[in-house]
Amino acid sequence: MSAGGAYLNRRKYLGRVILPALVLVLATGSSAQVDAYRPVDHNRLLKDEESSDWLTYGRTYFEQRFSPLRQVNKSTVGTLGLAWWVQFDTSRGQEATPLVADGVIYTTTAWSKVYAFDARTGRQLWTFNPKVSGKTAVASCCDVVNRGVALWHDRVFVGTLDGRLIALDRKTGKPAWSVQTTDPTLPYTITGAPRVVKGKVVIGNGGSEYGVRGYVSAYDAETGKQAWRFYLTPNPDGKPDGAASDEIFARMANATWFGDVWKTSGGGGTAWDAITYDPDTNNLLIGTGNGAPWNHYIRSQGRGDNLFLASIVAVKPETGKYVWHYQTTPGETWDYTATQPFIIADILIKGAKRHVVMQAPKNGFFYVLDAGTGELLSADKFAPWVDWAHGVDLGTGRPIERIGVRWGAGGNSRQNPGPSGAHSWKSMAFNPNEGLVYIPALNRAGNFASPPNPEAYRHIPGTQNRGLGVQGVAPGKQAAPGALQRARAAANGDPLPPVSSGELIAWDPVAREARWTVKYSGAEWGMGGVLTTAGSLVFQSVKHDLKAYDAASGREVWSYPLGASAIAAPITYSLDGVQYVALMVGNGGGNGQGYSTLTDTPVPGRLLVFKLGGKETAPDHIRTSRMELDVSKAEAPTGDALAGDVFYNRYCRFCHGQNFIYPDLRRSPALSSRTRFKSVVFDGLLESRGMTSFAAFLNEQEVEDIRAYLLRGSSNLR
Ligand code: CA
Repeated sequence: MSAGGAYLNRRKYLGRVILPALVLVLATGSSAQVDAYRPVDHNRLLKDEESSDWLTYGRTYFEQRFSPLRQVNKSTVGTLGLAWWVQFDTSRGQEATPLVADGVIYTTTAWSKVYAFDARTGRQLWTFNPKVSGKTAVASCCDVVNRGVALWHDRVFVGTLDGRLIALDRKTGKPAWSVQTTDPTLPYTITGAPRVVKGKVVIGNGGSEYGVRGYVSAYDAETGKQAWRFYLTPNPDGKPDGAASDEIFARMANATWFGDVWKTSGGGGTAWDAITYDPDTNNLLIGTGNGAPWNHYIRSQGRGDNLFLASIVAVKPETGKYVWHYQTTPGETWDYTATQPFIIADILIKGAKRHVVMQAPKNGFFYVLDAGTGELLSADKFAPWVDWAHGVDLGTGRPIERIGVRWGAGGNSRQNPGPSGAHSWKSMAFNPNEGLVYIPALNRAGNFASPPNPEAYRHIPGTQNRGLGVQGVAPGKQAAPGALQRARAAANGDPLPPVSSGELIAWDPVAREARWTVKYSGAEWGMGGVLTTAGSLVFQSVKHDLKAYDAASGREVWSYPLGASAIAAPITYSLDGVQYVALMVGNGGGNGQGYSTLTDTPVPGRLLVFKLGGKETAPDHIRTSRMELDVSKAEAPTGDALAGDVFYNRYCRFCHGQNFIYPDLRRSPALSSRTRFKSVVFDGLLESRGMTSFAAFLNEQEVEDIRAYLLRGSSNLR
C-alpha cells in the first residue's frame, strides 16, 4: 500500500513548480549537433579500444565495467566537478546504466521511460514513455525500476515493467515494434536491460516471489519476431514447450523436481538481470533466480536440485540450445539467486591463461568458471560473514551446508546472508591492470522459518508466495531477532536498531582473497554499483555521496555530494577529448524502497554528469515537508492492531518496509479516517502512482485492522 499523502502533497508541489518542464535541463556550452550515427554492431560491442563510448550494460560484451579512459585519474580527480545534469519526473528508484554512442547518452527511469540526451550538454533529444499501468507496481518486488536499454544498429531496445520489449528509432525515439514477452495475466515484470547478440534481442523477466515460471527469449532485432525461448523450470504438464529448453529438461532437469506445488507456482528461476554474451566461446550466459516458493520442502518435497534455479546456464545465441550449466545453490531455499552480473575475462591461474566467467551471487561465494565448459575453477567466500555453508566442494561443485540451515519443514534458521544476499544486482567491476574485482557486498543476516504447518501451504495468486512463517518467526516461538522486532520497535516509537552494513571488497580472483576493503557502516541499500578505469580509479556511491578510490589501495581520493542516494553504477565516456563520468541518482529501489527512505524523503531522480574542472551546480532538492497527521483528530480505529500486524507484514511490508517508511505511513493523513484509508487500500484511489487496490486480498475490516496497526505506530510519534 501507499499512503497517499506524501504523493498528493508532492504532486501539488511539483505540479506548480517542476512538472511543467517535465525534465529540467541545466546545460553548459553550446547545443552543437550530435555526431553522425554509426550502427552499433558486433565489432563495436567487441572492441575494447573503442573507449569513447559505453555501448552495452557492462560497456562491452565482456561486461567488466572497466574503461580504458585515463584523463580522470588519481592525480586529476580532485578537480572532477559537475558538467551538466537533468532532473526527471519521477521520485521512484533509478537503477539504469546509461549507454553512450556517437555523442548521445541513452537512459531509462522508473516506469520504464527512455530518454536520449546530447552527451556533451544534456540537451534532450527525445523521450519515450511506454505508459506502464500503475497496476503493474504491485507485482514488482523492488520498486518500479528499470536498469537500462540496449543498442543495435539504428535502434534502442527497452524492456518495460509490464513485460513488453520495445524497439525505438535511435534518432527519434519513435517505436518500430513492440512485443508482449510475458503473459500479462501473470505477475511477470521486466526490470533488466536487454542485450543484443547477432541481431537477436535477448530479454528475461522477474517475478519468482509472486509465482511465475522463469524463461529467457530472443527476438529478431529488425522485426520483433521471436527467435527462441529457453525455460528455466519444467513444464508443469510434463509436456514439451516447443522451446529450445525441451531437450535438456527431458534429459536432465525434469527429474530434479518433485511433488506438485511448483506446478502452480511456476517454480521461479527468473532471469531478471544477468544475461551476458561471450564472443570468444559464442556462449550466452544466463543468471537464474530463486525458487518459487522459497521453501524447498513445500516447493519440491524437500527433494531434488531443482534445475535450473540459482544457476549459470550457457546457451547458443543463435538457437538457445543448451551448452552447460552450473548450479550455485542446489535445492535453493533462501532466495539465493544467481542473477548477479557476470564478468568475462582472461586471467592467469597457476601460470596458465584461462578464459573465465566470474560471478558473486547472493549466496556469498565468488565463483570462477571456465567460460567455454563451465568447469568450476574456484569458489570462495568473498565476505567473512558468510556462514550458511562451510565452503564449496570443488570436486562435486556443491556447497557444504551448515547443519540446520534447511528450515523448510518446521525448522528455522538465522544465517548470513539473508534474502538480500551478500551481493545483489549492483554491478561489480573488474580492473585488468590491478587484477581485482570490486564487489559491493552486503552484511545482512536473515531469518528463515517454516510456517506452523507447511503441508497446509496454498498459493495465493497475485501476492508474494514464499512458504515462510510469519516474519521468519519459528512455529511456537516468540519473536526471533530481526524483522518482527524491528517492526514492533518502530510501532512502539523505539529507536530503530542498527541496520546492516556494507563493504566495497577488492577481490583478487587468482589469489582468491580480498586485497582491500572499504567498510560502510549502515550503508545497506544506500550503496551503488561500481565502475573502474585505467586511471586506476574505482567509483562507487554510498549513502548520499559519489566516491572515487585508488584502485590499488582503496584509499579515498574524491567525494561529491549527490543530494540523494544512488544505487546504479556510474559509467564513463569521452567526447572531443573530454572524459565524462555519469550516474543516475535517486532514492528508492529494493525492499522498503531503499535504505535512503529510512532517513530521507522521495526526491526526483537525476542524471549527473561530471568532467574535470566542471563548475555546474545542481540545486538542493526541496524536501517536501513531512506528512502531518493529527492523531488526536483521527477517527478511532475499529480494527484489531494485532491482526493488522499480520496483514501488514503479509501484503504491505515488501514495498513499504518493515518500519512503514515508504512513505512514512505513520504520518499519513490517509489514516485519519476509515473511509479515507479504505479509498486508498481497498478502492485503489492511487493506482496510477503504483498503489493498486488490495480488494482481491483484504476485506474492508482487514483494511481497518491495518489502519489500527499503523495508528498504533503513529500515536508514539511526536
Ligand atoms: Ca528473489
